[in-house]
This record gives sequence, structure tokens and C-alpha cells, in this order.
Amino acid sequence: MLFKSAFDSLSEYSIVRDLNLCISCSVCVGQCSYDVHRFHQGLGRVLHDNLRCKGCRRCEALCPTGAIAVMRNCMEEDCRGHSVESEKLRMIIQDYDERCSCWAGMDVIQGPFSCFDDTEARLGLVTVLGAQNGRVSVSVPIILTLSGICAENPNLRKAVRECVSNLGTVCDIHSYYVSDEPELAELGINVLEAEEFMNSSPEASYSPIAVRVDSSLEGVEEAFSAVESGAGIIFIGRKGTPDMPPPISISMLHRKLESKSMRQNCSIVAEGCVRQPMDVFKALILGADAFSMEFPVLRAVGCTACSGCIQGQCPWGIATADPVLYKRLNPAMAARRIEDMVKRMVLPLKAFMETNGIASSNELVGRRDLLCATGLSDREMDILGLTHVSDCGGGQ
Ligand code: SF4
Ligand code: SF4
Repeated sequence: MLFKSAFDSLSEYSIVRDLNLCISCSVCVGQCSYDVHRFHQGLGRVLHDNLRCKGCRRCEALCPTGAIAVMRNCMEEDCRGHSVESEKLRMIIQDYDERCSCWAGMDVIQGPFSCFDDTEARLGLVTVLGAQNGRVSVSVPIILTLSGICAENPNLRKAVRECVSNLGTVCDIHSYYVSDEPELAELGINVLEAEEFMNSSPEASYSPIAVRVDSSLEGVEEAFSAVESGAGIIFIGRKGTPDMPPPISISMLHRKLESKSMRQNCSIVAEGCVRQPMDVFKALILGADAFSMEFPVLRAVGCTACSGCIQGQCPWGIATADPVLYKRLNPAMAARRIEDMVKRMVLPLKAFMETNGIASSNELVGRRDLLCATGLSDREMDILGLTHVSDCGGGQ
């Protein structure tokens, strides 16, 4: 017993199996792609190896008798959950996303919100991206992104393609397979790394030219140089070294371009840092024109953020190119969920615009009078161009 608990303490997760409920059906054995569970013929029951568990909770979700609980072996509150699970798990996911958001310390000064039909969500959200060397018009200012192993999942690509087509937007999929899928390439946008852009010949450039920079001081400088050299869209927000919170880098770039009368020469896309509808407001107000989202896309289709993606054996069939696993993801259902996620992201924005007589989301870009700071330092408020909540009489 002593040996068992010492051994278990080495693992990040512990599987707790209620033997009174377990019917030895082996569903968990088949569903776990990390071989955590195995049926022991001699004992006639299922055993598990905690050390292999990634905490994805698929076995817990699919066990027909509810015999499994996956526990995290640390003092931190568990922050995993799955979107098809209970209200409690949904709240855990929301809490996780809120805690991981980089937009804390700011409140939107809100007017009253009205209710409206969500089919109207896209009206007024048409955004034109790019300026120099080409433009692309999107019906909602949200670009769906897939990268790494997720971009190699054909069912996930299919879901994103369908969703992008239904929503009238574009996607950014970094995958060798894109060239094999003309339809997807048509709906996609090519984003060049800053270095790649600087070394590329003008003939090799895409239209519109989109360049990706890190969220760092260096990234802001690279973005500025790229705009001077003809880039029409800047993707900024990805963690740089040393990194800077994305709200700061977005705000710095927006204000720098404004001060040089170059803001109209490019669109700013906040990349990878928007997770909540309120983040959309804050990013717009600080200077972003649109948002590139990957994590919310993965969340929408069932990602439990177990961080095992790198192994490419995602039991939910998301971060994987394994045909046995990616077949677990139904593309049509995934597309509906992604579409719902996008609508949930923009509905409060749309409601705010309708109620306050704002005709287009573009009108919100740079409207710092709608945002106040709560708990930020003087230096941060200065960079962001915000006043403290006590000085602007709002922020409920
Ligand atoms: S899925 Fe549930 S009931 Fe079936 S073997 Fe695993 S723990 Fe037991
Ligand atoms: S990795 Fe996922 S499916 Fe496998 S045992 Fe752990 S929680 Fe269950």
C-alpha cells in the first residue's frame, strides 16, 4: 500500500475506478490511445497504469456506468473538462479560459444590451482585411486557424472548411495538405513569418500580404517594417521571447502606425489570444481589426487541453493524423460546434453595436473611451492609453 501510493504520486493523474460500478466492458481499454487501461484475463477485470495517463478524460466521459474518475495529482484546482459534459464541467472550462485570458485588468464600459436573433449575428460585422497589395472581405472578423498536428487531421480540416464557407470568412491552416485541397486553399489566407517576408521576392508575395510577428518589442518593430514594405495584414499575439502580453503589443502597434499616419495601410489581426466574447471587445478597442482563433476551435470540438497533442495520439481524434483516431471526430458535427462558438463570440459584440447605434465593428477599433483599466499599473495604462475605472465613471 505504501509502495502503491508513492508510485502513484509520480504520475500527474490518477484513475479512480469504482469496482462496484465497473462491468469490465473494456470500453475504456479501446478508447484510450495511450494504453493506460488493459484487461487482465487472470483477474477478470480492467487494470490501469497511471503513469501513461494524459488526463484527457475520454475514458471518464465514455464509461457507460460512470465507474471512472480521472484525478489530477497536484494542489492546483483541476482545470480540465469536456464540452459535452455536465454544467459543472462547462463552468470549469469557462473558469479555465477566463484565468488563461490575457485581457484581465480591463473592463468594457457597457451600455444596455438588447436581445436579437442570432441569425442576424453577421450583419454589421463585415470586415475588409488588407490594404496595400490586395484585400479580402470577411463576414465576421474571425479567422479560423489550425496548426501543427491539428492541421494534419483531414476531418478537422473538413470541419473548418465547411464552417469557413458557411460563415463567409477565411482560414489559416499551416499544413502541407492544403495544396492537395484546392477548396481549402481557396478559403485560406497565406501568412508569412516576418523573416520569410523580409527574404521573399516581390513576385513570390501573396495577395493580400499577411505577415506573422511575435508579441514582443521586436515583433512590433518587425510589424512596422513589414507594413512599410507593403504588408497589408499583421498577425500579432503569438508568444515571443521575451514575450509581451498581446494587449500591449496590439496597442503599441496600433498607436505607432497611427502616429505615423500608416494605420490605414494595414489590418491588425489579434492571434491566439482571444478566448472569451469580452476579449473580442477589448482587442477591437485596443486596435485589432480581426481575430485569429485556434484554441477556441479545438475547445469547440471537444479538446480537454490535456497537452498531449505533441504525441499525435489524441484520444478525442483532434490532434492526430491517425485514421483510427481522427474518425472519432465527425466533421459535420464539428463544423456546427465551431460555427456555434463563432456566433457565441460575436453575439455580445453585435448586441452592443445594435443597442448603441454602432453600424460596423470597424467603428469600435481604437475607441479607448469604451474601455477602462482596473488594477493595471500606471505604466501599463499609459501604454494602453486607458484611464482608471474611478476616473471614467463606468465599468460595470
Ligand atoms: S469503461 Fe467503465 S465499466 Fe467498462 S471496463 Fe472501463 S471502467 Fe469498467
Ligand atoms: S489518457 Fe485519457 S482516455 Fe487514457 S486513461 Fe487518461 S484520461 Fe482516460
